[in-house]
Amino acid sequence: MDRRPVELSVVVPLYNEEQVLPETYKRLKQVLDSTREPYEIIFVDDGSRDRTLDLAREFCQTDENIKLLSFSRNFGHQIAITAGMDHSCGSAVVVIDADLQDPPEVIPAMIEKWRQGFDVVYGRRAERKGETFFKKLTAKLFYKLLHGLSEVDVPLDAGDFRLLDRKACDALKSLPERNRYVRGLASWIGFKQTGIEFVREERFAGETKYPLRKMLKLAADGITSFSYKPLKLAGYLGTVMILASGLYLLYALGARLFAGFAAPGWDWLAAVGLFGNGVTLAAIAILGEYIGRIADEAKARPLYILKEKMGYDVHAKLRAR
Ligand code: UDP
Ligand code: MG
Repeated sequence: MDRRPVELSVVVPLYNEEQVLPETYKRLKQVLDSTREPYEIIFVDDGSRDRTLDLAREFCQTDENIKLLSFSRNFGHQIAITAGMDHSCGSAVVVIDADLQDPPEVIPAMIEKWRQGFDVVYGRRAERKGETFFKKLTAKLFYKLLHGLSEVDVPLDAGDFRLLDRKACDALKSLPERNRYVRGLASWIGFKQTGIEFVREERFAGETKYPLRKMLKLAADGITSFSYKPLKLAGYLGTVMILASGLYLLYALGARLFAGFAAPGWDWLAAVGLFGNGVTLAAIAILGEYIGRIADEAKARPLYILKEKMGYDVHAKLRAR
């Protein structure tokens, strides 16, 4: 057994990935063995309902480089990678998807950049294979929107596939927020950052674990965590509407006094009224997005509940020697 301290931690979030896990394990192991550095792979089972946890347990029992965390229920991708980072001990931490869309073979290039002195090396998706037109389009629009709204420079088209130096990982861990948009936070912490391009492959097997509902939640977390501009939008729209309705009133008054007829167009007025109500409700919904998140923070619940932790005692034993 390699007794040098762990140099590289690789965090892999898993949600119902029984179809890909054996292949992912194989390819990760190949790449990591070839680096000749002591490493740990941390599988984080995010409340899977299939055989993912059983498989991960088997790998953990037969391979001393594997550690396993298992959640009591599905807490979500962003929380899963946070838990993995919390329980990592490497001098550098790599976060990678389980479905092999992020090729493990890119990791040595990330390590290379890290050795050159970069603290954060994020993967840039030069090309996205096998993803639907809808996913590519919405992703592109969303990253553009976030880029425009936020004061933090979140790199375009970078996901969570990245390497973090220990100090960057510790900085991330010190951020207590619950509705986490990790790729944004990873920019916010600063340090010396760089990106490397890679081709995002097709999912190896199975289907996406990000249905529209989860995608929208992630997008809303990204925007509310990094911008207050949506709140200001209500103010701008309100001002425009007050001005427009004022002008219309003046016109109506003028028509009655000078042209001697009552302005027609009650249907138009009704439409304007409905529009106004719609805008008001939309503004309240935007407020709700922020206030709901404030409520989450105020409750200060733990980010996740673990039901199982495996493989960590090995290192405790090693340290005791
Ligand atoms: N994932 C997770 N919890 C979830 C959803 C996804 O841990 O609630 C994991 C999933 O197993 C995968 C990664 O997050 O390792 C990215 O998910 P996926 O590949 O389905 O997303 P997509 O690439 O389609 O955006
Ligand atoms: Mg994927």
